[in-house]
Amino acid sequence: MSEITAIRGMNDILPSDTACWQFLERTIAAVVDSYGYAEIRLPVVEKTALFKRSIGEVTDIVEKEMYTFDDRNGDSMTLRPEGTAGCVRAVIQQGLLNTPQRLWYTGPMFRYERPQKGRQRQFHQTGVESFGVATPDMDAELILLCATLWRQLGLLDAMELQLNSIGSADARKAFRAALVEFLQERVDALDEDSQRRLHTNPLRILDSKNPQTQAVLDDGPSLEDYLDEEAKADFARLCELLQAAGVKYTVNRRLVRGLDYYNKTVFEWVTGKLGAQGTVCAGGRYDGLVAQLGGKATPAIGCAMGMERLVLLLMEQGAAVTAPVVDAYVVAVGGDAQCLALAATEGLRLQLPRLRIVQHTGGGSFKSQMKRADKSGARVALIWGEDEVAAQTVTVKSLRANDGERAAQVTVALEDLETTLCAALAH
Ligand code: ATP
Ligand code: MG
Repeated sequence: MSEITAIRGMNDILPSDTACWQFLERTIAAVVDSYGYAEIRLPVVEKTALFKRSIGEVTDIVEKEMYTFDDRNGDSMTLRPEGTAGCVRAVIQQGLLNTPQRLWYTGPMFRYERPQKGRQRQFHQTGVESFGVATPDMDAELILLCATLWRQLGLLDAMELQLNSIGSADARKAFRAALVEFLQERVDALDEDSQRRLHTNPLRILDSKNPQTQAVLDDGPSLEDYLDEEAKADFARLCELLQAAGVKYTVNRRLVRGLDYYNKTVFEWVTGKLGAQGTVCAGGRYDGLVAQLGGKATPAIGCAMGMERLVLLLMEQGAAVTAPVVDAYVVAVGGDAQCLALAATEGLRLQLPRLRIVQHTGGGSFKSQMKRADKSGARVALIWGEDEVAAQTVTVKSLRANDGERAAQVTVALEDLETTLCAALAH
């Protein structure tokens, strides 16, 4: 029969990589916790209308990247392409907006994109969102949280923070008109994507990676000149706060982000170490989104980091994330030995829950079980054979050469197993 394989762009994360993932997930959970953020868990599927209304009809995501289908009832559903929309939907629906909220979530997201390094169709994001605070100290906190996380992960030196303010919706509207007017006269010099975007999402043209398009933009209107006073003041204050905290940043006046809901502060953490997929974390303010989705007007800011890209970066940096070692491998030859070993091992797991103890399963000779013990990488073998059963003892054998000759192997009474094992592992 032919083999059924995974869907393109939806990857297995193999045991050899999960230690790195777990290190990343643990570190994130600890850092967001230390800033007082609470975890929220959200559905993977939402009504399609939620994403259309929040992300925007003419964005790349909604136009061509969503996994949308009708359920058996004929209702249109979408696998979430990002987390903010669902999070906003939840805080409105669950009545969480009476006080400021600091929330985070993590999980799979889905976008129909061309798979490549750092770009999948099922990928994972961790998002951090704050609701109810409009002042730039909140923006600074979110950015500082990211910086702390990069430091804890050993990635801070690999990251550059790019920062911009895109102002109010009105400011963007005025800028957009000026930009379109300017670019329409130079449309032939633009790359194909940008020509298309001129009529759908012209601000995205600022994001174009095409050098010729960027050169055209050099003489064009600058978003900075269209910012309202409040956005200007907030941005200046954010910069001041970041400087006071010692966070380095680059102001990138062409940073606009691909989703419609942002206003004022937008930022990206970028690395030069992942090729074209260099943006590791992106976010910004979205003060209008809660009202746009039917909630009472509530300022908000958030960001999302791409977990695959962070894992790639950790591996690239040679982060010392190793799979946990097996502490003890339990060898038991014969039916009676198996009974004794099973009970003793369960006792050890209760007393020493942090140890990794692997019980041999599947029977076999002493020799074949010891071979497996060696292969498991265990530091110590706990052995029950005929002699041990008769004498109610257990043999504790060191399997690593560098564990020294001294305690290479001892046979002790069952009640001394715990201390003998601890001593053997302490070498
Ligand atoms: P890009 O420009 O790389 O497509 P984006 O602007 O679409 O990114 P966001 O929607 O802001 O990305 O998502 C935040 C982060 O999630 C990105 O910076 C990236 O790290 C990660 N991300 C987004 N799409 C993917 C994907 N298809 N595969 C892996 N990670 C992704
Ligand atoms: Mg994208």
